Amino acid sequence: MQTPQEEPGCVLSKTDVDLIIKHAQQLITAKGYIQRPAKGPEMEDLGIIHDGAVAIANGKIVAVSKSEDVLSKYAASERLDAAGKIATPGLIDAHTHFVFAGSRESELELKIKGASYLEILQKGGGILRTVRDTRAASKEILLQTCRERAKSLLVHGTTTIEAKSGYGLSLQDEIKSLEVINSLNDEGPLTLIHTFLGAHAIPSEFAGRTDEYVDVIIADWLPQISQRHLARFCDVFCEKGVFEIDESRRVLLAGKRLGLMPRIHADELYPLGGAELAAEVGAVSADHLLYASDLGVERMKEAGVIATLLPAAPLTLMLDRYADARKFITHGVPVALGSDLSPSCWIENEQLVIALACYKLKMTPAEAIMATTINAAHSIQSAHEIGSLEVGKKADITIFNAKDYQFLGYRLGVNMVETVIKNGRVIVKDGHLA
Ligand SMILES: [Zn+2]
Repeated sequence: MQTPQEEPGCVLSKTDVDLIIKHAQQLITAKGYIQRPAKGPEMEDLGIIHDGAVAIANGKIVAVSKSEDVLSKYAASERLDAAGKIATPGLIDAHTHFVFAGSRESELELKIKGASYLEILQKGGGILRTVRDTRAASKEILLQTCRERAKSLLVHGTTTIEAKSGYGLSLQDEIKSLEVINSLNDEGPLTLIHTFLGAHAIPSEFAGRTDEYVDVIIADWLPQISQRHLARFCDVFCEKGVFEIDESRRVLLAGKRLGLMPRIHADELYPLGGAELAAEVGAVSADHLLYASDLGVERMKEAGVIATLLPAAPLTLMLDRYADARKFITHGVPVALGSDLSPSCWIENEQLVIALACYKLKMTPAEAIMATTINAAHSIQSAHEIGSLEVGKKADITIFNAKDYQFLGYRLGVNMVETVIKNGRVIVKDGHLA
């Protein structure tokens, strides 16, 4: 719609839009990487527009440019002044275990006293405890729990997440978890991309019978989950003593045959060859990768597998080792970041993930921002609609109370989010849900 507007000496015709964000000190666009993720030096290519503006109509971005350009062509009744602030694409969390009931605060002391993750698991704690809590929760209770969790993520600037099942570990409870993800996604405003992680741990009723459990997942569960369109991805916790390489391969290939793209928990605690397996099965993403071998890195590069790194995981496991992000970036493997949000790594603030990526993975703030925007979008196969500020994309935008993007790596432990826009609507204002 054209609106004639009188200005001294001339008549300008401006296009009406729903919302304009103007005068952002730094508008981080992350543009130019819709077809493929940023890699190597491209991971610092933030596409910054100083004094930038975005025009939004019908939930989509219709213009991204200097404020002067946008304001000369577009008019909107609602305008947000981002002077002195930075605006980025809405943050994307590429790895969460979002659907769980209960909590495991008592394990913190066990970890402090030296118990390892696998020791806690072998004693019936860890994942298995959360499985008991999640099975016991009704779908309504689980949905309500996750709804509150979603609000917390939004307030911290995250607009899209990858969300795994994996605390049901029975067909019925895995379906319940995936249906909770679907329901929340339908409710909005947080977007959730669903992943089936039935092969997360061996449930107690299958103890010592991993092969049989894998058989059931392949023969019975995966076909039903695929038929009901309950998951985009199929993931496996590929780890020594849990699902080893052959078992992981079987699950991932069976999922792929049914249209569920593979992603994998790889080489987190032990150098098992998960990175190589990710390349072999054509995984979209291999995650964790603390112990990825040089060959694995090379294979991932050749196969175009994204390395989704999760620096909060080793932090909360109290490990000294972190993924070698510099090796992936130097070798041209695209890096994305995720929180690993779960009962053992309860982190809802992706700004902290960015900071940990800087302090523990030696990624620059620019690399960490690309890894939580456009590259994270690629990690969940959504780069065609989110992850960057480009015309035609969904208007998912986070505005931070910071004058420079480097604050996202630098300032720790506070929520710098001022405004969150999701599908063109202001959903967080002055740091609170609108
Ligand atoms: Zn995980």
